[in-house]
Amino acid sequence: SSGRLGGLNSSESGGVPDAKNLRVKLVLLGDSGVGKSCIVLRFVRGQFDPTSKVTVGASFLSQTIALQDSTTVKFEIWDTAGQERYAALAPLYYRGAAVAVIVYDITNPDSFNKAQYWVKELQKHGSADIVMALVGNKADLHEKREVPAQDGLEYAEKQGMFFIETSAKTADNINQLFEEIGKRLPRPSSSSS
Ligand code: GDP
Repeated sequence: SSGRLGGLNSSESGGVPDAKNLRVKLVLLGDSGVGKSCIVLRFVRGQFDPTSKVTVGASFLSQTIALQDSTTVKFEIWDTAGQERYAALAPLYYRGAAVAVIVYDITNPDSFNKAQYWVKELQKHGSADIVMALVGNKADLHEKREVPAQDGLEYAEKQGMFFIETSAKTADNINQLFEEIGKRLPRPSSSSS
């Protein structure tokens, strides 16, 4: 594998988006190093491979999941690929995003503060009906934890966001994260259903 994001496609859904086959742009936000790329690679490729990382430019991968109500959701996942410090990228990056996943590292309180900054940015500049999820990653690092799960949960509830702790390393809660997002997506109205 070239180790670069982009161009990898899941082909299960294939068809035109409709009420049962959703296609959504998902953006990842969060401090550099919190594990955004690892979460995506775990979800899309089923691997934990920290060396496989894009270093230049934003990029995306896509992955389709099937929900229990037989809806399929094709996530087009945008990763900042290290561009989080360039504010100028932001509006382009958020545009058309139906989902924002804001990630912090449970061992790093600064990254939790930064996550709260991103939430405010999205509330200002994101689309009004954007689905937001707050993710405390690196949950496998119990001994180094500095952000209590309760803090993440309380903050997320206050903002009306979904909250989950994940580990890209052990795969814990990675699929659940995307399934829960899928459940929360607004369903386009369809006359045939
Ligand atoms: P990004 O800058 O937010 O995209 O972060 P990366 O995905 O590049 O991850 C940064 C570092 O954190 C890498 O060295 C990974 O090995 C490590 N990492 C990412 N996710 C986890 C995790 O769930 N657990 C642990 N222990 N380390 C992780």
